[in-house]
Amino acid sequence: MSHGLVDPYRPEESVFECLECHHRLVSEEHVGACPVCGGATKNIAVARE
Ligand SMILES: [Zn+2]
Repeated sequence: MSHGLVDPYRPEESVFECLECHHRLVSEEHVGACPVCGGATKNIAVARE
């Protein structure tokens, strides 16, 4: 049980934002539709080297 190393931008996860309502969600898989409004989403994750 350790917390303090929680990084919301882990490289295996991507951040998606709904183009319609701007709801954001983090998923390891491609998200094709917003869970809130069903709108299209885009991947807004920033690649970090
Ligand atoms: Zn939406």
